[in-house]
Amino acid sequence: MHHWFRLKLDPARIVLGLKNIQLITEYLIASLVPSPLDTIASAANMEAADAEPSLQRLRDSFGRAITDLRISVTDRCNYKCVYCRAGEEGASFTELPIADYLRMVRILVSLGIEKVRLTGGEPLLRSGLVEMVAELARIRTAFRADGTRLDAHEPGQPLDIALTTNGHLLESLAAPLAAAGLSRVTVSMDAVDPDTFARITRVPRSFQRVMAGVNAAQAAGLGPVKINCVLLRGFNDNQIESFAEFSRRQGVVVRFIEFMPLEEPSAAADARNWKPETVVTMDEIVTRLNAWRPSCGVPAGLVELPQRAASETARRFTFADGVGEIGIVAPVSRPFCGHCSRLRITSDGALRTCLFSQSDHDLYAEMRRGGTDHELASYIRRVVLRKEARHHIGEPGFEKPSRNMVHIGG
Ligand code: SAM
Repeated sequence: MHHWFRLKLDPARIVLGLKNIQLITEYLIASLVPSPLDTIASAANMEAADAEPSLQRLRDSFGRAITDLRISVTDRCNYKCVYCRAGEEGASFTELPIADYLRMVRILVSLGIEKVRLTGGEPLLRSGLVEMVAELARIRTAFRADGTRLDAHEPGQPLDIALTTNGHLLESLAAPLAAAGLSRVTVSMDAVDPDTFARITRVPRSFQRVMAGVNAAQAAGLGPVKINCVLLRGFNDNQIESFAEFSRRQGVVVRFIEFMPLEEPSAAADARNWKPETVVTMDEIVTRLNAWRPSCGVPAGLVELPQRAASETARRFTFADGVGEIGIVAPVSRPFCGHCSRLRITSDGALRTCLFSQSDHDLYAEMRRGGTDHELASYIRRVVLRKEARHHIGEPGFEKPSRNMVHIGG
């Protein structure tokens, strides 16, 4: 009793107590009042109106600007590719309401994100995707090209909104997505031979569905469509030249991506678990294509195209007549981590700073506990400071990441 009485009379503690009450009240009010980010106001205005606006764009501890966001809107997939999935289609992680992904994006754009790629799982399985793209198309960037923050009255640029899909449902969705504001689409295709394609996806007649999707995307103005192909030695590496021909004939950019250790481990007879020997490297692909003579009499030999940005992941090539484009992304044989500008959000709202991170950062938990936009922005800044320098594929002691590709978002 005596102790309690003494506390009540200590002026320093009274001041401290009052300050705590004020902080708790402010916190409760902030949680009840709808976020300004839930309006369509530009994200740039948001941080500018904040009590402690940060003028700095998002950078990691190595000075890399983070401009590129990938969001997985579901980890369900309707394909069971032999190098990706163990055979199940269902989700392992939850999905957030679309409005929650949008709130995260708006905060991230206020910090410097300029490109948003929707992925999964299979993003076209997610209802509300077209509406999500329409909302993304209303957001404006918050920084000038020189990296300084725009003033509140200055309009930013529209986001670059991209989609990575297996294409199975694209035929009917390409036009509505384009109308909603999608900038471009990447379709994953690991063979141009229909039987090999179906053996990879483990879905009959999948090739025909995906080709219908590619045609619809081109007709909807989403070109040049990019085609992502993961080559597996002894399985689909006989497709390299056919893909070159396909790029020229179909007018698509074909990008070969080196196989990374991100698969769900599986003992299935047709499964392809990662081994260094299974990776078809950039050098091998270049050698093969340099020796290839396009069928219409054009001389053999790749012609390298200039790099468009330091953070560009692919080396790009065309042929002697300038028809067709081949990109090669070589995360295994020529890692590009030094220029990494990416941050990922998983379907359940976790931030991942690298495909190969050993842990996630639960941004959604911060939202659920009532974090204000400013608090979430500070949380994101702290997470980004922990972004890894690089991955360690192929090095002794390499550990697979805490999630597989399909549950991260490729
Ligand atoms: N379902 C969509 C699709 O098929 O494009 C989006 C998700 S999928 C995981 C994204 C991309 O990751 C696909 O192009 C796929 O080929 C690629 N991918 C999956 N596992 C991979 C691995 N272990 N190494 C390299 N790329 C991989």
